[in-house]
Amino acid sequence: MPKIIIIGAGFGGLSCALELSHADCNLEIIVIDKKETFDFLPSLPDTLGRGINPQFLASNIEAIAKENGFEFIKEEVLSVDFSKKEIYTNNGKIGYDYLVIASGSETNFYGNDNIKNFAYTLDNVDDAKKIISALKEKSFDKFIISGGGYTGIEVATNLRRFFYKKKKEAKIIIVEKSKSILGPLPEWMKNYTRKNLARLDIEVFTQSAITRIEGSTVYVSGQEVFDNALVVWAAGVKTAKFIQELNAEKNTQGRLMVDNNLRLNDNCFAIGDAADVNYKGNYLRMAVQFAIVQGNLTAKNIIRSIKHRKLVEHKPIDLGYIIPMANNYSCGNVFGVNLKGKLPTLLHFSMCIYRTYGFKNKIGFLGDLLKGGAR
Ligand SMILES: Cc1cc2nc3c(=O)[nH]c(=O)nc-3n(C[C@H](O)[C@H](O)[C@H](O)COP(=O)(O)OP(=O)(O)OC[C@H]3O[C@@H](n4cnc5c(N)ncnc54)[C@H](O)[C@@H]3O)c2cc1C
Repeated sequence: MPKIIIIGAGFGGLSCALELSHADCNLEIIVIDKKETFDFLPSLPDTLGRGINPQFLASNIEAIAKENGFEFIKEEVLSVDFSKKEIYTNNGKIGYDYLVIASGSETNFYGNDNIKNFAYTLDNVDDAKKIISALKEKSFDKFIISGGGYTGIEVATNLRRFFYKKKKEAKIIIVEKSKSILGPLPEWMKNYTRKNLARLDIEVFTQSAITRIEGSTVYVSGQEVFDNALVVWAAGVKTAKFIQELNAEKNTQGRLMVDNNLRLNDNCFAIGDAADVNYKGNYLRMAVQFAIVQGNLTAKNIIRSIKHRKLVEHKPIDLGYIIPMANNYSCGNVFGVNLKGKLPTLLHFSMCIYRTYGFKNKIGFLGDLLKGGAR
């Protein structure tokens, strides 16, 4: 019986495992993740300002595995040996016939251990819980978000919503090292977002960076020193450590270069944030829609490979993207149409509820959203 190992139970890895487990084929499917839960990442910022209980964003992987007939191992993958077809974890080695690398991405501190020690991150549900506790239990009055990309902007606007609901004052600042927020996105979107940030009294420092943090004292280049400040670091991501050390071709983001069938070699596929998939001369941005489609396609291609059939090429279709802002002035481009205001907000939450795992979580999420408060 062919043995398939999937590293990572995120969007890509789980969609691959679910597709394989329901295929008409006798397979041994093992999913390995260093966490116990599948975390619904796109709604993490909403836990801060919309009062979405983080419990509705975390689904137990063991339970999903039992329900769908695959095995789950909670271990961290440390390395892969392609020639022996083995992976090495913190608990030993496991052989495979097919390997799917779906280990996603994690916060990049660019080697700055000082910032890593003090800054908060938003990589998973536990991170969101830590920020919520800090908001409730500590009395920070300044919030500095490093990174003016999607996540930084979502976090900043959600923090403003949190304080607005609590009727409290707070200084909220986004620090962005390049000339503009939202990097390669269209100018109208940047202008719209800048205006909205000003409406929410969120300051933006461009061509600026956090240089040092000492407890709750934060040093920002070219600015005053900020005391009593909490830092959320959303200034970039990198692939898992074992990928960085893997003897394989990678792009400048450290993502694995794959062929048109999402393969590194005949027995190994890489998908989602971990993979560099060329799309119209550029690499695909990191997004849930691509990870899910790639997971499904990889499952089909593994079965085709077992049956010695020609593999199906990956032809991504970009459905679009949204920058959700917590005062409902969101913006984005969906199916090629530019959107502003409440409609993209509604689309963001429809997508979140649709893709959240399990009926109970969907209902809980919707209930909290309708209450509309900060916890
Ligand atoms: C705060 C935030 C907001 C976002 N908002 C959006 C949005 O609105 N829309 C959108 O499309 N995308 C959004 N994204 C991006 C999106 O979540 C990712 O593109 C998507 O999760 C990628 O799926 P994946 O399967 O590649 O990786 P992930 O879903 O990240 O899953 C990777 C899994 O691999 C596991 N793993 C990692 N390393 C190891 C190891 N060494 N051993 C074992 N297990 C390991 C991790 O624990 C994790 O469970 C957001 C991301 C974040 C963090």
